[in-house]
Amino acid sequence: MNGHWQKESKRGVGPVAAQRTPATHLQQPLGQGPVLQAWQRRARRLELPHALVVEGPPGSGKTTVIKWLTAALLCPSELDVDGPCGVCRTCSRVAQDSHPDAHWLELARDEEDKDANKHVKKSFHVISIDQVRAAQDVLLHHAVEGRARVLRIDDADCMNEAAQNALLKTLEEPGSATFLLLEATTPEQLLPTVRSRVQRLRVLPLADDTIEREIRRRSVGGGGDPSRAIAVARGSLGQALWAGTEHAVQVHDLVLGLLATNKGLRSVATARAVLEGCTEGRLKLEAARTFLALLRAELRAARDNLAEPAEAAYPLAPSEPWTTWLELTLAAERDLDLLIPPEQVLTACLLQFESR
Ligand SMILES: [Zn+2]
Repeated sequence: MNGHWQKESKRGVGPVAAQRTPATHLQQPLGQGPVLQAWQRRARRLELPHALVVEGPPGSGKTTVIKWLTAALLCPSELDVDGPCGVCRTCSRVAQDSHPDAHWLELARDEEDKDANKHVKKSFHVISIDQVRAAQDVLLHHAVEGRARVLRIDDADCMNEAAQNALLKTLEEPGSATFLLLEATTPEQLLPTVRSRVQRLRVLPLADDTIEREIRRRSVGGGGDPSRAIAVARGSLGQALWAGTEHAVQVHDLVLGLLATNKGLRSVATARAVLEGCTEGRLKLEAARTFLALLRAELRAARDNLAEPAEAAYPLAPSEPWTTWLELTLAAERDLDLLIPPEQVLTACLLQFESR
């Protein structure tokens, strides 16, 4: 049932998405401690709330947590009474997104906006009411293998209002042993009526040494100093892995170029260069996020250098721009979360840089 929704699949594209490529083995979430253990025990006993929002920043491991809980719900093994066994056929199929009782919904391009071909203000990709209805049809049938049924909704905060309203029916009467696991970066965008019917699980940011260990474990043939990637990541393994990719290094050069020439900055050209080669909305979003995260890290460093009296490297100009620029960068990151198109966000942000 999953195939026909994947008009704009995020699997296999972009560095963060690469992490989302279905793994052959079930991955245990890192660094989530006793909170997740409590949830997984409840899942094992099919005592999970019928709808749970798993929330956290991009790349923080929400999908890993959701798959882990899904496996805890579906795993028939008695090896571990408190968690999924991680090795049986059920656990593997959950990891590979191929279990017949684990369904999922994900972003599709908003055809209406695309056809209109006019000013797209938001929702350049959404989860539509049709997708929700199709999922509800599937949930009318019995579980194929018996234990439970799970509907995962990726980027649930991108459901449009009609889709969220349609989902209310399922949130109220999900059916027996049916569990909805919603993934959201900005859960406050869910309607109050939806929020009041779900429970929340916040994915914890990872400690820097956990991220460092994981980067070293995954890197093939050494790899350089991971400290910059860790600084940009702010507790998100996905962001850290992504900051080490070739594209991120190129984007970082653009950031440094931008800061080196604080006059005559070409905002439209820079925005274009950041998004160059990104053919899909999802890729553009990832690139824009990398750019802004790196820009933020550099601006913070520049500001902190200024505050340090021993460092006279930056002359204290009367109109010191770093703090204002930092605010503009943070505002642009918020705009991306609101699904304003990346081209628009970057150009507007950089145009304001020019005027300061
Ligand atoms: Zn298992």
